[in-house]
Amino acid sequence: MITLKEALKLSKEELENFKNDLKAKIEANTDLNAYIDVKNVGEGVPVAIKDNIQVKDWSVTSGSNILQGYIAPYNATVIEKMKAAGISPFGRTNMDEFAMGSTTESSFYGKTLNPHAKDCVPGGSSGGSAAAVAAGLAIAALGSDTGGSIRQPAAFCGIVGMKPTYGRVSRYGLGAYASSLDQIGPMTQNVEDAAILYDIISGHDAKDSTSADMNDKVSDKLDANRKLRIAILPKYIENASDDVKKAYQKAVDALKALGHEIVEKEMMDAKFDISAYYITATAEATTNLARYDGIRYGNRVVGKDLNDTFIQTRSNGFGDEVKRRILLGNFVLSSGYYEAYYVKAQKTRHIIKDEYAKIFEDVDLILSPVAPTTANKFGALSNPMDMYLSDIYTISVNLAGLPAISLPISKSDDNMPVGLQLIAKPYDEQTLFDGALGLEKQIDYTN
Ligand code: GLN
Repeated sequence: MITLKEALKLSKEELENFKNDLKAKIEANTDLNAYIDVKNVGEGVPVAIKDNIQVKDWSVTSGSNILQGYIAPYNATVIEKMKAAGISPFGRTNMDEFAMGSTTESSFYGKTLNPHAKDCVPGGSSGGSAAAVAAGLAIAALGSDTGGSIRQPAAFCGIVGMKPTYGRVSRYGLGAYASSLDQIGPMTQNVEDAAILYDIISGHDAKDSTSADMNDKVSDKLDANRKLRIAILPKYIENASDDVKKAYQKAVDALKALGHEIVEKEMMDAKFDISAYYITATAEATTNLARYDGIRYGNRVVGKDLNDTFIQTRSNGFGDEVKRRILLGNFVLSSGYYEAYYVKAQKTRHIIKDEYAKIFEDVDLILSPVAPTTANKFGALSNPMDMYLSDIYTISVNLAGLPAISLPISKSDDNMPVGLQLIAKPYDEQTLFDGALGLEKQIDYTN
């Protein structure tokens, strides 16, 4: 598959031929269920779009039954920016319903398969985007990351996935899950493409009140030879699988060989991250999902009166995981429990942020696992608590609003990809990409 960098240089005619080949390839691989549908709009370089990002006049459903029939009335800011850069949205990719999940099993459209092993999950929630890129069914894709949904499927599928600093990329036109955590980001074949796509979609947007007033770009300044101070977390990785630990050691050796300075640091027990995240995310999700009432958007089940219409629509339209989170979110926000759960989660969030800030006083980057294991088999995380616990290495990054990039490091004994992430200071995407590019060049991921 050609890279995004190469595709952006193709002539109109070359691009047209390429798109036709790509469509045929997608047609031959529909069993993966990476795309919900494929559309060929515009003349630009085709990039796949997660089904929670609005493309004007396209259906957009966040993988949910409740949004069937809803047509996006406008383009998300990232789509406008891509179009201006010669990219055209090309198909909607599958995802966990409302981006809630780590496996893409909760989609209304059925599960997506991992191209490396079809009995394994592609990760989630941006599993369709990851599988499409990994299988050569997309040059690149957009995903969204609230607690790991770009980085973890990227790691499970052996591609690059990057979550920008909170506020770097406009959320205007992104279906909201947890607004204080959500970021759109690139999912690509390599680090340089991620930097190129990040440059295209990032920048200040007056339509998003949390958008940072910064427009600096990274891709033309990439420097794989910078010498950095990088923190490693020996204690923190103890609960990871042997495959992940091995990859970690491989990455540490590669970073040393590159001449980086390696510094050992500690992080507090990640179990607090899980609690703080699942309280914060469900509280915000409850609020965001209240708008799906059968009146304004998508599907409606008409009941005997207005209240019954709300109940029937929501009971019928939302899947089990979404309902579970709406219940949880309402519980943690309810009077009498608010202080015990929500307020405490916010305090924990501050502690996590401070903890990162303290480490970053001394280092440029942190090397961390993305997930405790490689891609699991379908159904293995059917207990919701097990699924939540699998997010331990990604969610603190969102709670602290930091930029991070997941890249392929090695293959496990059973030949599944293992990805690790680098994490940087807020707004220091340049160092993040520089470090990742060096590591990518140093490492042969296929062994
Ligand atoms: N797995 C996490 C969750 O279910 C993260 C999802 C995401 O980043 N959108 O909330």
